[in-house]
This record gives sequence, C-alpha cells and structure tokens, in this order.
Amino acid sequence: MELNVVGGGLAGLTAAIAGAEGGATVTLYESHATLGGRARSTEPPYVANDGPHVLYSDGAPYVWLERRGLVPRSKALPLRAALGTRWRYRERIGGPPTGVLRAASHRRLRAPNDVDFGTWGTERLGADSARAVANMMGVVLFHAEPERLSAAFVWDRFQRVTTPGWPAPRYLIGGWGAWVEHLSARAREMGVRIETRSRVDALPQGPTVVATSLNAARTLLGDDTLRWESGHTLMVDLGLTRRHGDPFLVFDSDECGFLERYTVVDPTLAPEGEDLVQAQLPVRPGEGRAKTNARLEVLLDTALPEWRERLTWRRDQVARGRTGALDLPGTTWRDRPAIDRGEGVYLAGDQVAAPGLLGEVAVTSAVRAAELATARHSRAATDSR
Ligand SMILES: Cc1cc2nc3c(=O)[nH]c(=O)nc-3n(C[C@H](O)[C@H](O)[C@H](O)COP(=O)(O)OP(=O)(O)OC[C@H]3O[C@@H](n4cnc5c(N)ncnc54)[C@H](O)[C@@H]3O)c2cc1C
Repeated sequence: MELNVVGGGLAGLTAAIAGAEGGATVTLYESHATLGGRARSTEPPYVANDGPHVLYSDGAPYVWLERRGLVPRSKALPLRAALGTRWRYRERIGGPPTGVLRAASHRRLRAPNDVDFGTWGTERLGADSARAVANMMGVVLFHAEPERLSAAFVWDRFQRVTTPGWPAPRYLIGGWGAWVEHLSARAREMGVRIETRSRVDALPQGPTVVATSLNAARTLLGDDTLRWESGHTLMVDLGLTRRHGDPFLVFDSDECGFLERYTVVDPTLAPEGEDLVQAQLPVRPGEGRAKTNARLEVLLDTALPEWRERLTWRRDQVARGRTGALDLPGTTWRDRPAIDRGEGVYLAGDQVAAPGLLGEVAVTSAVRAAELATARHSRAATDSR
C-alpha cells in the first residue's frame, strides 16, 4: 500500500514512521527545504527552538516514542534548576503565590468543561487564586485571557504541570532540531521517501495523511470548517552574558507569560559563558506589537537584572495559531476537527481531535491517522480477496 504524508513536522514524521511500521510504502512531502516545521531550531552558536521547549514524559505519546527508540537524547530538570523556579506575582519575583499552593493541594478537584475557568475558578478557589493559577498556565496556554477557556482545559493542565511526580518535562539536548534529525533518520531507515521543497497544492492520489497546520489543511482540503482556537503570543529568544542568580524559570502569575533559561539544562545551546533565555507574553486582543513588547520587557526587567547590558543576541517572533489547540467552554478535544475525513484522507496535527498537551496532540493524532489509513487498506485488500 502507498501512503502519502503532507507535512514534515512532528506529526508528519510520526505519521510516516507509524505508516511504514504498518506496512505502507510512504512518501512524505514537505514544502520547506528543511524538515521539522515548528520543531526546527536555529543554527549554533545560539540554538533556539521555534517555540517548543519540553517533551512531557508522563504521557502516552512519550511511551509510544520511547518504545521505538524515538526519544532523542534528553535530560530531566536537575533539582538545582528546579529550585531556581520563580513566579512573577504582583510585579515581584519570588516563590509560588499562596493561592497557587492552595490550588495545587486540591488534587482530587475536577473542573467542568461547560463553564469558563474564570467563573469556576473564582467560585472554587477565590478570584485571586484563580487568576494566579490561570496566568501561571501561560507556560502551556499562550493566551492573553486564559480565564475565558474551558475550566476543565485549564485545570487539567494546571494539575499536570504541578503533579507530585514532577519533573516529567524532558529537555532535548541540542534543541528540538536534534529530535527532528533523529526522527527523519529513522523514517529514512524504514524506507520513507522524503521530498523536501515539495509543496502540495492538490491532494495526491491514494490514502493521504494531511499533517500540516490546521490553517494549511483548511486551504489544501478546501474545507472552511477546519478551524479551532489557538494561542497568540510574542516570543523573544535572548543570548545573555551569564549572571549568577538568574532564575531558571519564571511562571508569570501576573500576565500569563513565562521565561526559561535553557542553558541551565543544556549549556551547548549558547556560547561559553552565556545563557540562552526564551521569554513569551501573549498578545492582548487588538494590541500592537510595540505594546506587547513593552510589557514583555517589563517581565524581563523584573526577572533578569541588567539583561539589556548583558544582551549578546536577540530574536523576536510572533506565534499566532501555532501554539496548539485551546478548548473553549462547552468543548473538549473530541469536538475538534476529526482525524478521519473520509475517502482515505486523514488529519494529523496539534489542533485536531486527539488528547494531550501541545505537541502530544500532534504525535497521538499522527499515530492514529496512520493506523486508520493502513487498517482501511488491509480491510479493503481482504474484502477484494
Ligand atoms: C511558542 C510555542 C511553544 C510550544 N511549546 C511546546 C512544548 O513545550 N512542548 C510541546 O510538546 N509542544 C510545544 N509546542 C507545540 C509544538 O511545537 C507543535 O505542536 C508541533 O511542533 C506541531 O507539529 P506539526 O507537525 O503538527 O505541525 P508543524 O510543525 O507546523 O508542521 C507542519 C509542516 O507542514 C508543512 N506544510 C504546510 N503546508 C504544506 C503543503 N501544502 N505541502 C507540503 N508541506 C506543507 C510545513 O512547512 C511544516 O513543516 C509549542 C509551540 C509554540 C509555537
């Protein structure tokens, strides 16, 4: 059986590997010269990820990847670094706000999905705690108004990020680009034909997994229903001369941003004596870039003393509709665009109907899409005999 995969990001590479494992002869088409999509990293000496930072080792996608030797070289957060985690709360940098600690102790509390987090959280945790919790989740939400999202969506993520089994996050040594190389090498070993600089403008003949962003899939499939809520954030990567005492990570309980100093875990990401920091702050509705940048620089001023004098490199980018699915009240992941589109077409990516956190959705949907495609073909082959 021949299987086409459109898109060479995490979802496309995973679908190609899962398809080859299922017995298909796979061709993957990627419009860019390089593979990886949002999982690309910049070239040294500053190896900055396009967005993603950690792979969560406590989820089913990690297990699927690990069983196949597809998890690249990675490191859990060292205790020393974990102790360097800080919060911005009421314009100061310090330990976790009391409201966050109190919320984290409610391990058994479940939130409904038919009401927004602001309403439910205020009722169950109090207004201040609810705001501190919602904003702290900027680390995975990338949304300026997290209290508008489904209560279950925000609360489940808060519980996962603060789970006692922590640290589940794994940092990829050499950046996410190293993972892309690892996955593409395996795909090639399994016989996947990879065609870069091959933009697909019309669906190829035969079973096809469309593993592009949801926006690109909408255009390719001519289906205007392929839409889902996602984040909108300003991201800044900074090279900074190292300064003893800089925090490792800052959860921003004031404004839903976050800041992380990756070189604490992987010093190879920046030149010797320097740190690589990524900071992000969601863009408010109707807000111009200069205004968001000014707010983001207040976060930097508060968290990283003298960062301007220590600056050696800077990259700014805006991620809109690129930070994965966000569920509004009244919806869950099951309501997102279905994987099986009928007639041998399958969707994979981080805004489709699959569970998980951020890139996990892309991996899970890709495995499912490839399974559905190869199973359908086996059924058709059996029927014709
Ligand atoms: C700021 C930010 C932070 C994030 N943090 C994390 C994190 O910490 N952990 C985590 O797990 N995830 C994180 N994510 C999410 C993660 O980056 C994505 O879920 C994942 O990279 C999506 O992969 P994908 O393959 O679905 O899509 P993409 O990476 O967008 O890949 C789609 C590919 O399809 C190609 N393409 C598009 N149209 C066509 C066409 N017509 N023909 C051929 N090719 C085409 C594109 O060029 C692209 O390479 C973050 C994302 C952002 C932006």
